[in-house]
Amino acid sequence: MKVKDRTVKGRISLRKCAGCGEIRPKKDLIRIMKTHDTKEIVVMPSSKQFGRSTYLCYNKKCLKQAIKKKRLQKTLKKDVSISTLNYLESILE
Ligand SMILES: [Zn+2]
Repeated sequence: MKVKDRTVKGRISLRKCAGCGEIRPKKDLIRIMKTHDTKEIVVMPSSKQFGRSTYLCYNKKCLKQAIKKKRLQKTLKKDVSISTLNYLESILE
């Protein structure tokens, strides 16, 4: 079942990290999206963009795990470029 990407009043929307697999509040995760129109991989897309998304903790370990297990590629159904991965690494702690 697909979780609706919407915050219900009084409820926190939760997402799963692609690295450690932990469920966290969406605001504590970084969003990586393959946009519906251009099929580009976008890190932290604007609210106007939509497409297939995956989430990561603000943590390099999670990024590394997600890369190792190819979770980003599997979820987004597209290879994530080295420059995107480098960018992610640069903004993660
Ligand atoms: Zn994580």
